[in-house]
Amino acid sequence: MQHGMGRMIGDIAVERIMEYEAPFFVPHEVFREATPEALAPHRHWLEPNAMDPETGKLILPFQSYLVRTKHHTILIDTCIGCGKNITHRPEWFQRTDQTWLNNLRAAGIEAEAIDYVFCTHLHADHCGWNTSFVDGRWVPTFPNAKYVFSKIEYAAAEARNDIIFRESALPIMEAGQAQLVETDFALDDNVWLQSTPGHTAGHVAVNLASNGHSAVMCGDLIHSPIQCVHPEWSPKFDLDKPLAAETRRNFLASNAESGQLVLTAHFPSPSMGHVVVEGDAFQFKYVDD
Ligand SMILES: [Zn+2]
Repeated sequence: MQHGMGRMIGDIAVERIMEYEAPFFVPHEVFREATPEALAPHRHWLEPNAMDPETGKLILPFQSYLVRTKHHTILIDTCIGCGKNITHRPEWFQRTDQTWLNNLRAAGIEAEAIDYVFCTHLHADHCGWNTSFVDGRWVPTFPNAKYVFSKIEYAAAEARNDIIFRESALPIMEAGQAQLVETDFALDDNVWLQSTPGHTAGHVAVNLASNGHSAVMCGDLIHSPIQCVHPEWSPKFDLDKPLAAETRRNFLASNAESGQLVLTAHFPSPSMGHVVVEGDAFQFKYVDD
């Protein structure tokens, strides 16, 4: 396990597989409440890891979680991918670098070894490596995997029928490797889903438990640690902003109470930590790197 990338949850090994991490967006362009004045009291703890002092942009990683239980080798989310025609983000359009796949290999995992792929939701940066472009068509990157999608999420993506759906989800269905499930689906005692709607209609968090230890991968129900202090800040990416805010606050409250490890998609490295109550909101305590 690479330094700072992994943790044990009982018998379950969890490891981040990074695609890239960089300053990504100016806060107030994404959170309308995040004016320079509103951010001023928080810059001292946001900078330099969560907020780039030079550009003022929030720093986001794009990463997956590799989960190894006694029974299964699982990927939670599959980042952006290569060659995808993601027209709304020039930096994601037809990327050519294989960093993510190389990092998966560096963790000792070949594509054939993945048993399950879970997508918290079907946005471009969470399902990209689901597929690879081979001999002129998109095929599953993981030939032996079942890909678990929430039914609601898949139906919403299918209705949109955008390029992300056609390149990264539909080919999985056509290959017979999709497993559409309810949002409370349990794979076994170690791995189960939790409905966390708002960011998207069928968004799920992925719970992990073993030997009295537990963790949860939260996907995009929260994007930045600033939302621990301001759970009511829903980014423009959230489909239903009031519902996303309600889901976020409930999630933070229940995780502050349980104290379990939270594996975030987009908080800066090391991305994992614990939610604690602070006043009428929360704070995120990162694990030691
Ligand atoms: Zn995301």
